[in-house]
Amino acid sequence: MGIRGRGIIIAIDGPSGAGKSTVARLLAERLGYVQIDTGAMYRAAALLIEQSGIDPADQCALENFCQGLDIRFENNQGRQTVIANGVDVTNQIRTPEISRLTSRISALKPVRDALIVSQRRMGGEGGVVLEGRDIGTVVFPDAELKFYLIASAEERGRRRFEELIANGEKVTLQETIDEVVRRDIQDSERDIAPLCKATDAVLVDSSSITVENVLDKMEDIFRAKINRTGTDL
Ligand code: C5P
Repeated sequence: MGIRGRGIIIAIDGPSGAGKSTVARLLAERLGYVQIDTGAMYRAAALLIEQSGIDPADQCALENFCQGLDIRFENNQGRQTVIANGVDVTNQIRTPEISRLTSRISALKPVRDALIVSQRRMGGEGGVVLEGRDIGTVVFPDAELKFYLIASAEERGRRRFEELIANGEKVTLQETIDEVVRRDIQDSERDIAPLCKATDAVLVDSSSITVENVLDKMEDIFRAKINRTGTDL
């Protein structure tokens, strides 16, 4: 502790729809930290790979392509936007098709290798809340604070459904729950960096508590940790 310049590294992992993005954004706001949504990076990579027309099974072409990926976050009037190879893809990466594609593309080693390098560069100095599937296990196994956020499949499906409907997508609740479960299986069963709880992560179940309650709980744990170790905020 205390080795990073700008604060600690906070990892929030968990399955899709558990509320990671909302919680990571609000926790980062409360602490004055930077939020890094690694799921958005995988989504942007999947979109670019699809648009490029390269065959994801062609290891060499995929490696070359991924080495040239430039995915960054920009703040646009208080809203975080995702810029992939110079193009704003913030809205484009949120469709059900891209969710499905991302879950497949993110299992490929050249993609993970390239994005992990960017994530370590973006987060390495601390003062960050990173959310994803493998932050506490692979990207920053030495993160000072790790959370594993879960919720029931029904609740996660319902939240995703509401988001999709708000974005004008035509989906049913049952389809969305099935999709969430399918992605959980794909993300948990892949060979590289599967979704799993780090042994030292704090488990938080958001099924039946409000976002505010989740945040209060996380902030309490953060403050207790900081006070115990005397790390600068
Ligand atoms: O969190 P989100 O639903 O946006 O993530 C989209 C997909 O990106 C996940 O289903 C998963 O396949 C992949 N992902 C990953 N590792 C991360 C973050 C996301 O494999 N750290």
